[in-house]
Amino acid sequence: MLVGNGHTPGPEVSSWYSGKGDFADLLISGVSITTGPFSNLSAGPFDVDLLVCPACEAPTDLEALHDHIDRWITHGIDPVATCGRCGHAAHARTLRGGDDSVLVGNLAVTFYNWPPLEDAAWSRRVMAVIVECLGSRPSVAQAKL
Ligand SMILES: [Zn+2]
Repeated sequence: MLVGNGHTPGPEVSSWYSGKGDFADLLISGVSITTGPFSNLSAGPFDVDLLVCPACEAPTDLEALHDHIDRWITHGIDPVATCGRCGHAAHARTLRGGDDSVLVGNLAVTFYNWPPLEDAAWSRRVMAVIVECLGSRPSVAQAKL
């Protein structure tokens, strides 16, 4: 069972997955929903050293990026940083590098110990359910803690 402010998997969702094991029976398994300013840069491990400007690929000023993310989290100010090399003003979401994207938003859904949502063993696409509920496709980040 999930401890804290999360929700354990509902009775139907484990029937959607035919892969190995039953993730719903794990000690920690569930979903938490966080509203308000959120960024994966402040929520967990992230390899920020690979982030570059989307215009000229200059390395991102990491101290400035974290300051912008802090202002987003505390004041809701969009994290837009100006590149020190080319002057391009880039929203944190547009920074590129590595396998992960910088996520910035007001709604985060975190899955604990669920199989990858793109796994072919899902008979019903979890992301499609989320898109149906929200009306738009969310950004996705994965992390292993
Ligand atoms: Zn640049």
